[in-house]
Amino acid sequence: MQSEKNKMSRRTLLKGMAVLPVVGFAGIQSVQAADLLSVDDPTAKALGYIEASTISDKNCANCNLYVATDGASGPCAIFPGKEVLAAGYCNSWIPRA
Ligand code: SF4
Repeated sequence: MQSEKNKMSRRTLLKGMAVLPVVGFAGIQSVQAADLLSVDDPTAKALGYIEASTISDKNCANCNLYVATDGASGPCAIFPGKEVLAAGYCNSWIPRA
Protein backbone atom coordinates (compact mmCIF):
# COMPACT_ATOMS: atom_id res chain seq x y z
CA MET A 1 0.00 0.00 0.00
CA GLN A 2 2.85 2.34 0.86
CA SER A 3 4.39 1.62 -2.53
CA GLU A 4 1.13 2.50 -4.28
CA LYS A 5 1.00 5.73 -2.30
CA ASN A 6 4.56 6.56 -3.40
CA LYS A 7 3.64 5.88 -7.03
CA MET A 8 0.71 8.24 -6.73
CA SER A 9 2.77 11.03 -5.24
CA ARG A 10 5.52 10.52 -7.83
CA ARG A 11 2.92 10.64 -10.58
CA THR A 12 1.44 13.79 -9.09
CA LEU A 13 4.91 15.35 -8.86
CA LEU A 14 5.69 14.51 -12.49
CA LYS A 15 2.39 15.99 -13.62
CA GLY A 16 3.19 19.15 -11.70
CA MET A 17 6.65 19.38 -13.29
CA ALA A 18 5.07 19.11 -16.72
CA VAL A 19 2.98 22.19 -15.97
CA LEU A 20 5.89 24.28 -14.64
CA PRO A 21 7.32 25.37 -18.01
CA VAL A 22 3.90 26.61 -19.08
CA VAL A 23 3.41 28.55 -15.86
CA GLY A 24 6.96 29.88 -16.06
CA PHE A 25 6.46 31.06 -19.63
CA ALA A 26 3.20 32.77 -18.73
CA GLY A 27 4.93 34.44 -15.80
CA ILE A 28 7.70 35.78 -18.03
CA GLN A 29 5.16 37.21 -20.43
CA SER A 30 3.31 39.01 -17.64
CA VAL A 31 6.43 40.81 -16.41
CA GLN A 32 7.49 42.03 -19.85
CA ALA A 33 7.81 45.76 -20.04
CA ALA A 34 4.89 47.65 -21.52
CA ASP A 35 5.27 49.29 -24.91
CA LEU A 36 6.81 52.70 -24.99
CA LEU A 37 4.40 55.55 -25.53
CA SER A 38 4.67 57.00 -29.01
CA VAL A 39 4.73 60.73 -29.50
CA ASP A 40 2.18 60.03 -32.25
CA ASP A 41 -0.34 58.63 -29.75
CA PRO A 42 -3.39 60.94 -29.87
CA THR A 43 -3.41 61.53 -26.10
CA ALA A 44 0.35 62.05 -26.09
CA LYS A 45 -0.03 64.64 -28.85
CA ALA A 46 -2.86 66.37 -27.01
CA LEU A 47 -0.72 66.64 -23.88
CA GLY A 48 2.40 67.69 -25.76
CA TYR A 49 4.41 64.63 -24.76
CA ILE A 50 8.02 64.75 -25.91
CA GLU A 51 10.71 62.13 -25.37
CA ALA A 52 13.35 64.56 -24.12
CA SER A 53 12.25 67.39 -21.89
CA THR A 54 13.43 70.85 -22.90
CA ILE A 55 12.47 72.35 -19.53
CA SER A 56 15.14 72.36 -16.88
CA ASP A 57 14.21 70.31 -13.80
CA LYS A 58 10.95 69.06 -15.31
CA ASN A 59 10.82 65.58 -16.74
CA CYS A 60 8.89 62.35 -16.28
CA ALA A 61 11.41 61.04 -13.75
CA ASN A 62 10.51 63.80 -11.29
CA CYS A 63 6.79 63.91 -12.11
CA ASN A 64 4.36 62.71 -9.47
CA LEU A 65 2.47 60.63 -12.05
CA TYR A 66 5.56 58.60 -13.00
CA VAL A 67 6.37 55.24 -11.44
CA ALA A 68 10.13 55.00 -11.16
CA THR A 69 11.84 51.84 -12.39
CA ASP A 70 15.42 50.67 -12.74
CA GLY A 71 15.27 51.44 -16.45
CA ALA A 72 15.05 54.53 -18.63
CA SER A 73 11.26 54.32 -18.80
CA GLY A 74 8.34 53.59 -16.55
CA PRO A 75 4.57 53.68 -16.25
CA CYS A 76 2.68 56.96 -16.10
CA ALA A 77 -0.79 57.22 -14.57
CA ILE A 78 -2.07 59.11 -17.60
CA PHE A 79 -1.06 56.45 -20.13
CA PRO A 80 -2.18 53.05 -18.82
CA GLY A 81 -0.47 50.08 -20.46
CA LYS A 82 2.36 52.22 -21.82
CA GLU A 83 5.68 53.43 -20.49
CA VAL A 84 7.06 56.91 -20.89
CA LEU A 85 10.71 57.83 -21.03
CA ALA A 86 12.16 59.11 -17.76
CA ALA A 87 13.68 61.98 -19.76
CA GLY A 88 10.30 62.81 -21.32
CA TYR A 89 7.81 65.51 -20.47
CA CYS A 90 4.20 66.50 -21.07
CA ASN A 91 1.94 69.38 -20.13
CA SER A 92 0.41 67.36 -17.26
CA TRP A 93 3.69 67.36 -15.32
CA ILE A 94 3.16 67.59 -11.57
CA PRO A 95 6.08 67.95 -9.14
CA ARG A 96 6.86 64.78 -7.24
CA ALA A 97 5.29 64.99 -3.79
FE1 SF4 B 1 5.70 62.32 -17.95
FE2 SF4 B 1 4.30 63.24 -15.89
FE3 SF4 B 1 3.51 63.74 -18.39
FE4 SF4 B 1 3.32 61.27 -17.40
S1 SF4 B 1 2.21 63.12 -16.67
S2 SF4 B 1 4.10 61.85 -19.43
S3 SF4 B 1 5.15 61.18 -16.12
S4 SF4 B 1 5.39 64.48 -17.41
